[in-house]
Amino acid sequence: MTAQDNRLANAPAVHIELEPFHVIAAPQLAESPLAESGICMNPCCSRPFPPTRPWQVYCCEGCRRAGEAEFRAIGHRAAPALLAWRLGKYERADEALRDLSRAGRRYLGTLASEWVADRARRSESI
Ligand SMILES: [Zn+2]
Repeated sequence: MTAQDNRLANAPAVHIELEPFHVIAAPQLAESPLAESGICMNPCCSRPFPPTRPWQVYCCEGCRRAGEAEFRAIGHRAAPALLAWRLGKYERADEALRDLSRAGRRYLGTLASEWVADRARRSESI
């Protein structure tokens, strides 16, 4: 173990005060859920199932893990674009940073569109 490893082992974890989206948007999600109740949210499964909890969106542990992996993968792609967008959002003087911010915003829009289209394709292919 190096000194660098020791320093990173004690580094503070990400700490964001903002509640998760499903908490913030609970009233809206109740009116327009991301997944139909009783239909597995994994687009490669999409089978009907009897939910045991109101918030259950996956039919089984395997689909839940697949869903988490998919969300994690999208998060990894979105995170740098979110940083770029936000860091340059109010920049007035640094044109390169403003341009990076616009690239981040465009990327997020494209990522969202491609992800939704990909989920629809996978859902239709089963
Ligand atoms: Zn499933």
